[in-house]
Amino acid sequence: MADRKLGLNTICTHVGEVEDTQFKGAISPIYMSTSYAYKDVAIKRYPRYFNTPNQEMLGKKIAALESTEAGMIFGSGMAAVSTTLLAFLSAGDHIVLQKTLYGGTFNLVEEEFSKMGIEYTFTSGLEQADFEAAIQENTKVIYIETPSNPLMTVTNMQMVADLAKAKGIVTMIDNTFASPVNQNPADFGIDIIIHSATKYMGGHSDILAGAVACSEVHMDKIWNKAKNLGGSLSDFSVWMLERSLKTLVLRVKQQNKNAKKLAKWLDQNGHVKAVYYPGLKTHPDHELAKKQMRGYGGMLSFELSDELDAAAFMKELKLIKPSMSLAGVESTILSPTQTSHALLSAEERENQGIADGLLRFSVGIEEKEDLIADLKQALEKVVKDSLNFSI
Ligand code: PLP
Repeated sequence: MADRKLGLNTICTHVGEVEDTQFKGAISPIYMSTSYAYKDVAIKRYPRYFNTPNQEMLGKKIAALESTEAGMIFGSGMAAVSTTLLAFLSAGDHIVLQKTLYGGTFNLVEEEFSKMGIEYTFTSGLEQADFEAAIQENTKVIYIETPSNPLMTVTNMQMVADLAKAKGIVTMIDNTFASPVNQNPADFGIDIIIHSATKYMGGHSDILAGAVACSEVHMDKIWNKAKNLGGSLSDFSVWMLERSLKTLVLRVKQQNKNAKKLAKWLDQNGHVKAVYYPGLKTHPDHELAKKQMRGYGGMLSFELSDELDAAAFMKELKLIKPSMSLAGVESTILSPTQTSHALLSAEERENQGIADGLLRFSVGIEEKEDLIADLKQALEKVVKDSLNFSI
């Protein structure tokens, strides 16, 4: 058994449990203590050292899910992103980031990096030549996100890893949208994998958390920075996250299935102008997605025809909630312009291809027929209203 790699569902259910040695309960106990013995112990434990029993064991589950040596849990996705970036970048260093990124990561770079003397370049596209053109003598990190928020662009992980390795550059990926169910970036040579665990890992819209997976050597560096920045997660939420992860594969597989059906339905609807989903054959990155993803994910974006009002459409939805964030078991929808990418200027959004009418749809685990019926009735209402208006 020892040498056999466990399947994802088994990892989710069993790896990284805290053993209940006292009562032999079936699930992990929670250790809420913020104070542990320091004499005659192998590890001096403290929550901000990221090494309480629950933190340490959940790190093992994250590592197993991403096929890496080490894993660590953070207080939010942005705590994971910022700590990891700052562990590898100092004044005088340069980072290359892909053009299409989560708005919070973009803001972190734009608002903070110059103050710290860290140089950065956003690529002009996602092809090898775009990354090559952005690399400088002092480039220390290449940072990608695939599929990206909100347009589901797909970046070639193997290409980026090979390019970086040849130049001794560390690669980082935001793997939030795919989750470890749909892709393992370590398989392609990406060094450091970051998640907003608030999303698929948590999956129930009730935990704010982050996670990082990588080699022991890289994790030592991240841990050194993390204990100084202090972005740890409370043990109660760590425990909640461990429980949520037990159903990760079941949830994400259902979300993959639903999203594919809904993307096809929207794509065939005459009142929908564009659908962005890597599982659609018409998606420009479909062939690449097929090569590097096991499933295409539960996220998609779409634009209604120009004459239709996207805000009115969202108001008409009965089951699908207009709501911030994503990846819960319930379907939610939002306008990136008003939420995740609101702090970008109109010009920056245009540069990333984010139209004002774009709607980002986080597909849940409900029955697909019910979701289609909800989209259909809301579309029919706004189409009717637009006809009345034009008469
Ligand atoms: N990365 C992606 C792709 C996200 O969508 C988000 C949040 O929406 C984050 C990172 C940041 O995560 P958090 O909100 O948990 O800090």
